[in-house]
Amino acid sequence: MEGLLELVYPPACVACDEVLPGAGFFCEACEALVLETPSPRCRSCSEPGAFPSARCPRCEHRPPPFTLAFAPLEHDGAVAKAIHRFKYEQRPDLARPLAALLATSARAFFRDVTAPLVPLPLHAGRFRERGYDQATLLAVELGQLLERPVRDAWLDRVRATARQVGLSEDARDENVRGAFVASPEVKGSAVVLIDDVYTTGSTAAEATRALRAAGATEVFVLTLARARRELA
Ligand SMILES: [Zn+2]
Ligand SMILES: [Zn+2]
Repeated sequence: MEGLLELVYPPACVACDEVLPGAGFFCEACEALVLETPSPRCRSCSEPGAFPSARCPRCEHRPPPFTLAFAPLEHDGAVAKAIHRFKYEQRPDLARPLAALLATSARAFFRDVTAPLVPLPLHAGRFRERGYDQATLLAVELGQLLERPVRDAWLDRVRATARQVGLSEDARDENVRGAFVASPEVKGSAVVLIDDVYTTGSTAAEATRALRAAGATEVFVLTLARARRELA
């Protein structure tokens, strides 16, 4: 895994572009603003907290269709800044260092879960606006770094959805309903669904339902960052 860092060259801070003296992801000032997702956490959705049943009240109340949703970093500070640049500031070149950051910080996850990678796709309309699909870029780079298959044809977004930002949880569920269709090729396989940020999990849950309906045995959701619920 240490070798992953050397593949990112020239080394520059993913949050502010400062050139780094050696291999790395963040400059010193930005590094101070990087938070790992705390433990203990919900065994289904990784919400931080010590829950009596090991599951947060939300997952107890409505168990998610995925096996586990995990993100190594909090969506805050320098990580939020880097992801914003990657998604909204025309920086598809950040896919490679961010994939290396994800591979490095989710090392234990990748040791345990060896399923193929499936990006959570953008809708074609949003793709045309942006010119690239950040989750697909992230998955492709991860696949190269980890030498793992990427099955981007296994999941398709067939319906445009409003942006989830600012919507209530029920409205988010409603907004993404029926948005995905999975290929029958997924039948019998487990899947690691890749996206940049996990917020309430509505989109990941809906994509999981489509994959499970097509016969996926298990779905693991892996994102670089996780938004804290009170900020979501
Ligand atoms: Zn920086
Ligand atoms: Zn949970």
